[in-house]
Amino acid sequence: MPAMTRALQIRQFGGPEAMQLVELEVGEPGPGEVCIRHHAVGVNFIDIYQRTGLYANPLPLTLGMEGAGVVEAVGAGVTHLQPGDRVAYASQPPGSYCELRVMPARSVVVLPDGIDFETGAAMMLKGLTVQYLLRRTQPQGGLQPGDFVLWHAAAGGVGLIACQWARALGLRLIGTAGGAEKCGLALAHGAEFAIDYRSEDFVARVREITGGRGVRAVYDSIGQDTFEGSLDCLEPFGLMASFGNASGPVPPVNLGVLAAKGSLHLTRPTLFTHLATRESTQAMADDLFARVSSGEVRIPVSRRYALADAAQAHADLASRVTTGCLVLLP
Ligand code: NDP
Repeated sequence: MPAMTRALQIRQFGGPEAMQLVELEVGEPGPGEVCIRHHAVGVNFIDIYQRTGLYANPLPLTLGMEGAGVVEAVGAGVTHLQPGDRVAYASQPPGSYCELRVMPARSVVVLPDGIDFETGAAMMLKGLTVQYLLRRTQPQGGLQPGDFVLWHAAAGGVGLIACQWARALGLRLIGTAGGAEKCGLALAHGAEFAIDYRSEDFVARVREITGGRGVRAVYDSIGQDTFEGSLDCLEPFGLMASFGNASGPVPPVNLGVLAAKGSLHLTRPTLFTHLATRESTQAMADDLFARVSSGEVRIPVSRRYALADAAQAHADLASRVTTGCLVLLP
């Protein structure tokens, strides 16, 4: 009898209610593949883009791009994993909102013994994103201790990891967040300054904090609502890394604006370019594991949901009431 799994699928793009709990057959892992039984699955804002169709994938689609669990079987040619290994991953295409899945082994790494499954599931997509942004997506000349950076949504899942990692690197992180409570959380996790961008003009505050100069880099996952203002926060030759669209996609950009605002650099990166090979995935994961194992970065899991309650997790994340990381427990 083939193995079966419960999975959350969409058959059409739409709201949280578009997700349906279905039973699927799970095949044997083919060459280069691994079969994983999930102990925890991460929920990410990108899952909302996939669900609504902003990032379109073929349907039907099992959502989810992050998980942790135990290897049940490996396919031919897989040498870095074996049955019984504790593992974690961030990968595309989606497919982690389930109990059991077969997927490419190249994206999967062994989880260090000291890191539990919940932490592993919550930190891979978000933590590796902070890794490639702070370590590999830097302004000309690199980021040095003492440099100012601006990080939007600093109390979110990616944001609270970024606050801690930036502090560990000696960077002066200015975080934005919606409301006093979220600002307090960002400060408690290592932001040096926090701006409530719902009630304050974040551009004016950044200029004030930096003595008029601006920051060396902005990491902007809000998109539409903050893009223009973020450019105005940069010092000459500064880097704008636009890496998300929580408020909607950035409208078409007139490149001349980058010249007018001081020969700025603009990039629109995605984690999955950085995870293209097993070697880079392992190197980035090793960096993340070292930060987490040393205690410099704690993964702030704030909410846990049953797999069947993923629609509630999506509704909570989209309504801006959450902080830190959300996980599903299959
Ligand atoms: P978060 O926990 O950060 O949740 C999103 C936050 O965005 C909200 O809590 C809210 O914080 C803020 N926000 C601002 N405007 C809106 C809006 N209109 N609707 C909803 N939220 C809004 O999510 P994640 O940690 O999962 O992801 C953070 C961002 O990083 C996402 O945009 C995601 O797509 C992006 N990302 C990009 C990757 C890449 O490689 N390009 C990889 C991974 C993540 P507040 O209330 O404080 O404003």
